[in-house]
Amino acid sequence: MTAVYPTDSLLLAVQGPVFAPGDAGYAEEVAGFNVAHRPAAALVVGATSSADVAAAVRYARATGKRVAVQATGHGLTEELFDTVLVSTRRMDRVSIDPLNRRATVGAGVRWSAVIEAAAPHGLAPLNGSSSHVGVVGYTTGGGLGPMARRYGFAADHVRRFTIVTADGRVRDIDENATGEDGDLFWAVRGGKGNFGIVTELEFDLVPVAGFFGGAVIFPGEAAGAVLHAWRAWAPTLPEETTTSVALLNLPPDPRLPEPLRGRSVVAQRFTHLGAGGADLLAPMRAVAEPLMDTVADLPYAAIDAVHMDPTDPMPGWDRGCALAELTAETADTVLAHAVDSPLAMIEIRLLGGAIARRPEVPNAVSGRDAAFGVFTVGVLAGPQPHLVPAASAALVEALRPWAAAGGLVNFLGQASPDRVGSLWSAADRARLRTIAATVDPDRTFATNVVLG
Ligand SMILES: Cc1cc2nc3c(=O)[nH]c(=O)nc-3n(C[C@H](O)[C@H](O)[C@H](O)COP(=O)(O)OP(=O)(O)OC[C@H]3O[C@@H](n4cnc5c(N)ncnc54)[C@H](O)[C@@H]3O)c2cc1C
Repeated sequence: MTAVYPTDSLLLAVQGPVFAPGDAGYAEEVAGFNVAHRPAAALVVGATSSADVAAAVRYARATGKRVAVQATGHGLTEELFDTVLVSTRRMDRVSIDPLNRRATVGAGVRWSAVIEAAAPHGLAPLNGSSSHVGVVGYTTGGGLGPMARRYGFAADHVRRFTIVTADGRVRDIDENATGEDGDLFWAVRGGKGNFGIVTELEFDLVPVAGFFGGAVIFPGEAAGAVLHAWRAWAPTLPEETTTSVALLNLPPDPRLPEPLRGRSVVAQRFTHLGAGGADLLAPMRAVAEPLMDTVADLPYAAIDAVHMDPTDPMPGWDRGCALAELTAETADTVLAHAVDSPLAMIEIRLLGGAIARRPEVPNAVSGRDAAFGVFTVGVLAGPQPHLVPAASAALVEALRPWAAAGGLVNFLGQASPDRVGSLWSAADRARLRTIAATVDPDRTFATNVVLG
């Protein structure tokens, strides 16, 4: 009898390509946005369907390996050694149902594709600051974007998903699900990749064709005036406005607008839906002389102009926390940590509005009750990359007196399972752990956010 090696059985079971280390195509397949980490997977399955994902999960189980998933690599925080990595980039189907204002997407879709497909219908998705981020990774972590105060988290608008669980089953689960599937419908919307691999996601779009927004960017010398003014002004805004303020150390990159290259600046980000945006923004525009002011009436397709996130791969280090309040002392603490900081960005986002409201069908989104979200990014390059993790940890520690009870999972960065678990209330954390232990008792899934 001819021996059938496990890899042969996998090759027979999947339609997509399978790559081992050293194979042509392996390096391209594992490459993602965050080049500080490069998955060192034992095998990569270029999945083309739910059946491919299920075959990869079954193969991993049969060979005693763990399973990881990657769409874009924006959320990479570790090397995923010796895993079977499911690469979802080929699962790129986007379908729009304009009548019911719904989108259905495959696991590998980025927000940019949904924005483009929805725009001709006067509709928009609840994407985040960068449309290059993947829909599924973002949404399973809640998903907090530039319209969040008006419409809430992306996860609040999910209607259905298909998921492959550790037993290799393909489950189609919608908002009416009960029992174990109902538990999964709650947990996956906010609990990140601890429960399985989502292969398809269906969610509501919102009737937004355009917005009044962009960024007002001031020189770094105005950081104190801008942050203190923003702190007092932001909580007075209506839900139609979503805003954040970011202290940025920008590289001398020729792709940046000339006035910003190689400078420390403070960016005030602003998205307003409906009329009256210019009047609301006027006091902040007057705080100092801006270097740049891009705020205008824009089509929704220009939404990336609000945050101007980098799009090229970079070695990033993220860390964040949530605040219950932003007092003058909190702002001074942030400013003190920004002086000569190795961090590329310290951003504070105003929460509240629809973010704070639970959706009709409850979900596991964390951080809903916080007043502000803090997100730091450092680049692990240059002469002293080791200073970055220490600087972000020091800021988060210094902000502890004003910390909210929970936090936002998408902004956590590298964190211990216990720190991840602490983002939720004791009851929600216990429920998430019970569901994970039921559907994946052997912890088959290796994710960047390990729930403890
Ligand atoms: C430049 C930048 C801007 C960002 N802006 C925002 C923002 O505005 N708001 C916000 O909320 N977040 C934001 N994030 C965080 C981002 O949402 C998370 O990092 C998210 O996990 C990225 O998902 P991905 O699929 O693009 O990345 P990947 O690295 O491919 O995936 C990251 C993780 O997502 C999970 N995941 C991915 N695909 C699946 C799947 N098919 N099934 C189950 N789990 C899956 C897994 O846990 C995986 O480890 C930003 C990140 C970056 C780098």
